[in-house]
Amino acid sequence: MIKYDTVLIRYGELSTKGKNRKQFVTKLLNNIKNSMSDLDKLEYRQTYERIYIKLNDTDPKIVSDRLKEVFGISSFSLTQKVKSDIDVIVEASYKASLEEKGTFKVIARRNDKSFPYISDQINRMVASKILKETEHKVDVHNPDFKIYIEVFEDGTYITCNKIEGAHGYPTGINGKSLMLLSGGIDSPVAGYLMMKRGIACEAIHFAAPPYTSNLAREKVLSLASIISKYQGGKMKVHIVNFTSLQKAIYDNCHDAYAITIMRRMMVRIAEIIAKQNNCLAISTGESLGQVASQTLESVQCINEVTNFPIIRPVVTYDKEEIIDLAKKIGTFETSILPYEDCCTIFDPKNPVTKPTIHKAQELECRFDFQSYIQECIDNIETICVNMNEKDEDYL
Ligand code: ATP
Ligand code: MG
Repeated sequence: MIKYDTVLIRYGELSTKGKNRKQFVTKLLNNIKNSMSDLDKLEYRQTYERIYIKLNDTDPKIVSDRLKEVFGISSFSLTQKVKSDIDVIVEASYKASLEEKGTFKVIARRNDKSFPYISDQINRMVASKILKETEHKVDVHNPDFKIYIEVFEDGTYITCNKIEGAHGYPTGINGKSLMLLSGGIDSPVAGYLMMKRGIACEAIHFAAPPYTSNLAREKVLSLASIISKYQGGKMKVHIVNFTSLQKAIYDNCHDAYAITIMRRMMVRIAEIIAKQNNCLAISTGESLGQVASQTLESVQCINEVTNFPIIRPVVTYDKEEIIDLAKKIGTFETSILPYEDCCTIFDPKNPVTKPTIHKAQELECRFDFQSYIQECIDNIETICVNMNEKDEDYL
């Protein structure tokens, strides 16, 4: 068995150049370190094109599982580092090939230009040893396995594995958004998709105690904790006590418009909290057509209360697509726990599918909603969920 001692990480090459690239790599390295913060034997090194992690006997499987979830990585390999000496390289590559089956191709890269053999010579020397000593055959077009060899001054990295990364951008590099997080299936997926585009997330949740229970609140915090791993394990969650405002809506507004007005209030409150926390947008898990209230008319009516950007990452997704993603990111099982949401408690029988802005405004004039909003803001509770229990350098 080959003993892997170094992980070699590759990142997006096309879209990031110059100064942007430096920021990209710095952020990526920081996010990787955050996700590994409990693994204290790891040593990191970064170059223009790669990040290297020296394992120092840390279990490669643990590191590999976590790296798969860090955005901004295109691929990575568990490698063996050997001396940059052609005989040592040939021997180690040959040994690595013994663990594989079928046809092969050697892909050498000479990063150290003072190394006396060019890539092509390395390829040939390694391939001829393998052809001589094993049953493996070369297939340059469609090999069963590839042997990657990267030669540097301080050592050469050899591996036959290349593991797909999560792609996207390092979370946080493109600013921060405030995500409306319910206990449902859609909003955690929406948050994950924002993070994938490099946007860090804080969450805002509207609770209606005592109608919504403590378990419902814990469920939302667990969802936040699960998706926080995609941004290094930490997330701020703002919990709004929505009960008085929600009751006022039901007392004063037409039943069919309750959900529409409630969403308008959520957005008004979210905008204030977003600005207080330097978030540049609000995001939601709304998906068109999924429920009666998620129509373009409804979107228009909700957006009318703000000119702050509202991003709806799953707007065009089918429920099945969202569920698949929820399963992949690990939120599904928690999302389907049967606790109540503030929307479901006050769920009207026939919500309007085509609300008009005019009607919504008219209903809102019937009560002093601004003072209720102020009360919500004054009583907001902010919790930092932290997967790794270490709370330094929060975003
Ligand atoms: P989800 O599965 O995310 O709950 P949903 O299909 O149940 O979505 P709705 O309940 O209509 O849809 O909610 C639409 C969006 O409004 C949610 O995705 C979420 O972003 C936001 N939202 C709904 N309820 C709450 C809440 N109690 N707190 C915060 N945001 C909420
Ligand atoms: Mg919901």
